[in-house]
Amino acid sequence: MKVYDLRSDTITKPSEGMRKAMYNAEVGDDVYGEDPSVNKLQELCSEITGKEASLFISSGSMGNLIPIFILCRRGNEVLVHEEAHILHYELSSVASISGSMPVAITGDRGILKPEALSSHLRYKAYYMPEVKLVCLENTHNRAGGTCYTINEIDAVCDFAEKNNLSVHIDGARIFNAQVASGVNIKKMAENADSITFCLSKGLGAPVGSVLSGDKDFIAEARIVRKLLGGGMRQSGILAAAGIYALQNNVSKIKNDHEHAKKLAAALNNTEWTSISEKSVETNILIFHVAAGTAHGITDKLKSEGVLCSPMSDSSIRMVLSLEISDDNTEEICKIIKKIAV
Ligand SMILES: *Cc1c(COP(=O)(O)O)cnc(C)c1O
Repeated sequence: MKVYDLRSDTITKPSEGMRKAMYNAEVGDDVYGEDPSVNKLQELCSEITGKEASLFISSGSMGNLIPIFILCRRGNEVLVHEEAHILHYELSSVASISGSMPVAITGDRGILKPEALSSHLRYKAYYMPEVKLVCLENTHNRAGGTCYTINEIDAVCDFAEKNNLSVHIDGARIFNAQVASGVNIKKMAENADSITFCLSKGLGAPVGSVLSGDKDFIAEARIVRKLLGGGMRQSGILAAAGIYALQNNVSKIKNDHEHAKKLAAALNNTEWTSISEKSVETNILIFHVAAGTAHGITDKLKSEGVLCSPMSDSSIRMVLSLEISDDNTEEICKIIKKIAV
């Protein structure tokens, strides 16, 4: 039986072209700053984000932990959405490693708004923690791949500037946001202090993320990466995959968004759920089912070869990636129609 894996876009495997690029990569010792492929990737990413400097890191989690470590520091508060990846899927690294205190903020569709943030500001008193940093997530994973508008990003950045806070963008899927919103990544990152994105999700590289910011910030980030045990040696082998992904796979992201909409159309008005195509903004779709039925439904889909993740006992997530072709999408729609009448 053919298996269609919709659990995540992290399941993407390097293509033949990417593997060739990895095989042919020029390498050196990156802890000495001497890996030409890593240096090339970092320069490319600085151009993409419009930031002075970039650092190749092992994961998106590290891409959030390093800026929190630097921009928030021990004992201070970082404001994050209550459904943020930082709160749910990165252990308690904010608390246990950075020693910062995460504060969960509410907001529709995973979007942070100044009004919601402002109620968490504090007046200065020696017995109160100090708010130092806001992290926004674009696209927002647990909210279902939702995107910030540029006005929403700028509103958070303006608010932060007025209140002397730094801003970090968790842009694990920032290319999906760029494709869906039509706003250039440079523009999104312009007023933020740092931005991270993943090469290993929809872009299809096997490993790696990138963190961008100004020169001093990235110099410090390099030290913190080493402190976390994340200094890598001939990592150009991996960086080459990242370069290949940026040059070849960004243009494919729009297909994933179309596929997600097609699946939403197939799921809509079945006995399981109703979900509008319009609510699907990027490559993630989350649909709501009757309480207690999510695991039964994902088991049923699995028995037909469709893997997806229950998010709770009443919601299910499907994530599209370049592993799922047009034809695969048609097949999955047929399977849905067959088992969800
Ligand atoms: C995947 C993801 C990350 C990082 O995950 P890693 O598995 O550590 O690479 C960070 N933020 C969001 C929103 C993500 O979806």
